[in-house]
Amino acid sequence: MTDPQPVYSFELFPPKTPEGFAKLKGQVERLAALGPRYFSVTYGAGGSTRAGTFETVDWLRSRQIDTAPHLACIGSTRAEVRELLRRYRDQGIQRLVALRGDLPSGMGTGAAGEFRYANELVSFIRAEHGDHFAIEVAAYPEFHPQAPNPNRDLDNFVRKVDAGADAAITQYFYNADAYFGFVDACRERGVTVPIVPGIMPITNYAQLARFSDACGAEIPRWIRRRLEGFGDDLGSLRAFGHDVVLALCRRLLEGGAPGLHFYTMNQSSPTQRLWRELGLTDPGKIANSQ
Ligand code: FAD
Repeated sequence: MTDPQPVYSFELFPPKTPEGFAKLKGQVERLAALGPRYFSVTYGAGGSTRAGTFETVDWLRSRQIDTAPHLACIGSTRAEVRELLRRYRDQGIQRLVALRGDLPSGMGTGAAGEFRYANELVSFIRAEHGDHFAIEVAAYPEFHPQAPNPNRDLDNFVRKVDAGADAAITQYFYNADAYFGFVDACRERGVTVPIVPGIMPITNYAQLARFSDACGAEIPRWIRRRLEGFGDDLGSLRAFGHDVVLALCRRLLEGGAPGLHFYTMNQSSPTQRLWRELGLTDPGKIANSQ
């Protein structure tokens, strides 16, 4: 089930308002024209974005766009996940991003949940649907913030692969060596599945700093200081952010990364520009030249 060529994919989140959804459609049209392998759509643990995720997935499918819904299992029962899987299979979905998720604050931790970790979800999907779905899981080159130590986190990542994951998408990072070190450590543990870097364009410092603090992704000090220094000068901040991320993508691809997964934040322009300057206009051609 592993894709033989580099996989380039775009992540979306479900908009909260009809206006946001109308805007998303325009952004997706522009992104779809680039020819990614698939779009993925996030899902709030405990079903907190259920309606929005369905609406977004349904619309993508109605446009015949290859879609990978995310499925975050924490706070869900087996019956609920079973129903989601049937819905997606009936829609012709063939790829899922299987996650534990983080329960939104206020939902509590014991809320009717029958899954504790993502490896249990991967096993459940395989037990219920065999090889029907290609399963992506999350990976953390700078390690998951709740992991007691890197070795245990790596062991836990291996569990997801052993449970049947076909590939992994990483949390975003700005230090390429963290990614290469993580991939080497996985290979030493016998993991052979593709580990696709997650790429977060830099367009808004306050938002990026907030996300990074929450998910444990490091913004290297020199980048943080430069971004802080731009203040309200958004044009300069975006130009610098673009150069940083472009250089990161180049290094990752030159070092053998099996594709890129762009966290688009529902905005086409930053990803489009990276795509163009990386020369990905024809991913097939890139794949053949490697
Ligand atoms: P797990 O792999 O279960 O790991 C969670 C923690 O538990 C880690 O510290 C791990 O070391 C530990 N652990 C794992 N298995 C075991 C075990 N068997 N025994 C003991 N410890 C274990 N969140 C959402 O809510 N919705 C989304 O759509 C979403 N999409 C994402 C997409 C990507 C590509 C990434 C990288 C993250 C995404 N997230 C999403 C965030 C993710 O849900 C959080 O990072 C969450 O905290 C962990 O999810 P996981 O699937 O990696 O969990």
